[in-house]
Amino acid sequence: MFTASTRLVGLLGYPVAHSFSPQIHNAAFRALGLDWVYLAFGVEPSRLPAAVEGIRALGFAGANVTIPHKESIMAYLDEIHPLARLIGAVNTVVSREGKLLGYNTDAGGFLRSLEEAGVDPAGKRALILGAGGAARAVAFALAQARCAALTLANRTEDRAQELARGLGEAGFRAVEVAPWEEGSLAGVIPEVDMVINTTSIGMAPDRERVPLDPGLLRPRQVACDIVYNPPETAFLKGARLRGCLVISGLSMLLYQGAEAFTLWTGREAPVEVMREVLYNLALR
Ligand code: NAP
Repeated sequence: MFTASTRLVGLLGYPVAHSFSPQIHNAAFRALGLDWVYLAFGVEPSRLPAAVEGIRALGFAGANVTIPHKESIMAYLDEIHPLARLIGAVNTVVSREGKLLGYNTDAGGFLRSLEEAGVDPAGKRALILGAGGAARAVAFALAQARCAALTLANRTEDRAQELARGLGEAGFRAVEVAPWEEGSLAGVIPEVDMVINTTSIGMAPDRERVPLDPGLLRPRQVACDIVYNPPETAFLKGARLRGCLVISGLSMLLYQGAEAFTLWTGREAPVEVMREVLYNLALR
């Protein structure tokens, strides 16, 4: 039952019908007995400024932001958290004392997915496949977690170069760019501890595609795929067969949501409740 004082949180994206976030966050609000509600709004790009004004005018407690608004929304917010500024994308908005503040919880969500799997990135070398928005969050997260070295490979090499420059300007210089060719990546793989797919390759409906032949991986390497639909991609299936430690994108999705929940409510997120809802939705 909602009341006259129900707090509102919204998802701004286009489209949003595929999102699991309303079910996850509403279950979390219920679990903690909070009079809050989370709703999804499909906002066409040209209507984004009006939607942000709507959030202000209606007194929303906050919002999540997804494709295609993660970068463009930054222009309409009052303050951007330094990590979100470095990444160049906001996925969580918090309303505090009349101001709208932009955060990026993908980075923290990714690190918590590693932590849950018992992986400490400090001192490790990683190969990141991709250089889009999610790759930027993963790369800055690993740099902050004192990763020893990063190799970036992206189909459009300029984007990988730009990310490498951004990391360098932020003080992380142990980064290089490798060509997006299997021959070249086959030489990089033996040198790294972790291989992380941040491209959308393997996402439904193209479930059989892989960003890289998992047969090139070494036993005991860490293989992460941030694609969460399907929960275990063809890349991760192949990596599991090779004897790698595999980490699904569902875990990052869960923890980026948990961090956003805490930013809005100031309460520790009921992660197990959120996990059950997310995994039930994703695996059905
Ligand atoms: P994005 O900014 O559009 O970046 C897409 C990336 O995939 C780029 O590096 C792009 O390369 C690459 N790519 C796409 N199709 C390709 C192809 N056919 N061959 C080679 N490279 C290709 O998207 P994003 O926001 O970073 O999201 C990427 C994926 O991460 C999506 O599947 C998304 O659902 C997932 N994601 C998961 C989480 C989570 O919590 N688990 C969070 C955020 C995103 P180019 O630069 O050459 O185009």
